[in-house]
Amino acid sequence: MKKSTPNSAFSFSKIYCSLFGHDYVLSKNVTHHIKEYSCSHCREQATTNSRGRLEIMTPKLKEINDALASVHAKKIARRKSNSSFQAAS
Ligand SMILES: [Zn+2]
Repeated sequence: MKKSTPNSAFSFSKIYCSLFGHDYVLSKNVTHHIKEYSCSHCREQATTNSRGRLEIMTPKLKEINDALASVHAKKIARRKSNSSFQAAS
């Protein structure tokens, strides 16, 4: 039998955040300009958008960030391989 027992720690964090605001800590560097953050209290995720402002993470933004991250990683890899040896492709 299922009981809806709310996670007290989680809801406390939510209350804390609504009172004092989220305490975002850097969780991932997507590019030099775009970074992902997660709240140290409630784990809510946020990201810097194209205008450099913090926005609550959505599946759409996550998708964009993942795409940007892979493009960025390729750029770095290309730069690295250029300095040591020529990339095959
Ligand atoms: Zn929070």
